Amino acid sequence: MEESISQAAGAGGAAAELLARWGAVRAWVAEAAARCGRDPQGVEIVAVSKYHPWMEVAAVARAGQAAFGENYVQEALTKQDRLADVDISWHFIGKLQSNKARLAAGRFALVHTVDSSKLARALHNATIGQGGDRPGARQAVLIQVNTGREPQKSGVAAENLPALAEEVEALEGLRLAGLMCMPPFDEDPELARPHFAELRGLKEDLERRLGRGLEHLSMGMTQDFAQAIEEGATLVRIGTAIFGPRPMKTQG
Ligand SMILES: *Cc1c(COP(=O)(O)O)cnc(C)c1O
Repeated sequence: MEESISQAAGAGGAAAELLARWGAVRAWVAEAAARCGRDPQGVEIVAVSKYHPWMEVAAVARAGQAAFGENYVQEALTKQDRLADVDISWHFIGKLQSNKARLAAGRFALVHTVDSSKLARALHNATIGQGGDRPGARQAVLIQVNTGREPQKSGVAAENLPALAEEVEALEGLRLAGLMCMPPFDEDPELARPHFAELRGLKEDLERRLGRGLEHLSMGMTQDFAQAIEEGATLVRIGTAIFGPRPMKTQG
């Protein structure tokens, strides 16, 4: 009995800190939007919960955070099962192997990281296999662009974006909803700004090409979300500022 009370008190202290960080992030995001004359409603926080336990996701979700981003399919699906009774919009933001596409299809509100024809087709086939070619059941995706042209990083090169976008647009299992990028890491967040501006320009070019608007620019993380918002981000993917430093990856 006493033990369970002290455990509850400990968990309560950690949970209070977590919710305080989340509240601060919400305020910073809203301020960044207001500073550049944008409607704060037009910028959604995707809380990046990779490696963090599902209990923490539950605490932040119950406080009102709607969207969570995960990087690993198995970890994400495990959390989804644990949190089946909580209303959460799950986003996939990690590298997706084509052979995992069938596990991911239909399980995420948005897949941010489509960067090849092979992956697009695998997601399309998996979605169609689940009866997902009805308009409302299409898998929404973003195309990830490797704006920094880093060889080790995922993402399509800017010059290959139009062809991939037209291919995705033609796949009836998918719905192209915008673009995502992850600029090269630098201590100075201002160095990310040209990448964010480039992504916005690429989206505008694509909108002209496709003859329709695209909803999302997924860009900005803990250290550079303010710059991303100033450059037009609609989705900011924030992990560390909400959950604290990531624990080491635990297997299983
Ligand atoms: C981990 C991760 C984030 C969150 O990074 P933080 O610096 O912790 O905010 C955002 N986007 C992607 C693609 C990630 O892998």
